[in-house]
Amino acid sequence: MASPQLSVVVPCFNEAAVIERFHAAVRKVLGQVGLDYEICYVDDGSTDRTRDVIGGLGAGDRRVRYTVLSRNFGKEAAMLAGLRMSRGQAVVLIDADLQHPPELIPRMLELHKRGYDQVIPRRTRDGESMTRTVLSRCYYALVRRLMDVEVLDGAGDFRLLSRQAVDTVLSLPETSRFSKGIFSWIGFTTVTFTYRNAQRLAGSSKWGSRRLLNYGIDGLLSFNNRPLRLAIYAGFWCFLAALVYAVWVAFDVALHGAVVPGYTTLLMAVVGLGGIQLITLGIIGEYVGRIYHEVKRRPSFVIRETDEHPAPGPRPPH
Ligand code: UDP
Ligand code: MG
Repeated sequence: MASPQLSVVVPCFNEAAVIERFHAAVRKVLGQVGLDYEICYVDDGSTDRTRDVIGGLGAGDRRVRYTVLSRNFGKEAAMLAGLRMSRGQAVVLIDADLQHPPELIPRMLELHKRGYDQVIPRRTRDGESMTRTVLSRCYYALVRRLMDVEVLDGAGDFRLLSRQAVDTVLSLPETSRFSKGIFSWIGFTTVTFTYRNAQRLAGSSKWGSRRLLNYGIDGLLSFNNRPLRLAIYAGFWCFLAALVYAVWVAFDVALHGAVVPGYTTLLMAVVGLGGIQLITLGIIGEYVGRIYHEVKRRPSFVIRETDEHPAPGPRPPH
């Protein structure tokens, strides 16, 4: 089949409540642009009617394609599945909850036509809770220091990628993926513009604070080994401090003779060093865990069915 000019890739996890509205909005926008497109839905193991809804949308329309994963693999895996099934000359990654306004797609295409391989709409943080905004800001400040690649605040997964950029992303062999880092790492000409943040239309966010925190830690660790470097520095400074202290104690003993007091310093040294050692071990452990995960060479996701190969037999009721 000839490749369409544009693929719209949509990861969906329990989005039955919004998909139809999303679909109508995207079709309207793409209809106005008047190009040859396909919409690729990925059902990331939803437990609601998501699969039936996207199956229904695809029934009368060859431009709608779908993949259903065998369980919930997470948004990263769902996006990867979508990129892999996409055939377009350009690909737009977009959320199903209408928080990423489809109305921006024409502008993204326009910029792409001017030669940009990555077009990234950055959202403002309007309407977000204060705590989340502050925490995100701090996180991005930290990330900028600790990561080799640049990750912009407000630049999420909503973006347009050229076919060359998509193929590069797909050629990376790692199983556990941190897309924000990967998209930045691949490079290519990139342009950003800002848009006003919107609230999710229906359903609820799948990112509780715990999941966000884990995602944040994943992001930091999956991209380089600067935390390990940090651990080395911490060890080095502790050693230096210990050395200075030892010299001082040696002089003290030489001048005043051995004295017993020093319980507090001793305890501080034991607890402090113990803490640093545990943190360092933890960091090393995280990396070892990652290596273990990667060497298993498992795929990032498992496909249950696609529009070309629908699952045989009846589906369990919801
Ligand atoms: N999503 C997914 N798998 C998951 C979690 C989320 O495919 O395990 C999809 C979800 O359906 C939505 C997008 O990723 O289209 C963004 O999710 P959400 O709106 O929950 O995240 P937020 O906007 O709060 O960051
Ligand atoms: Mg959302």
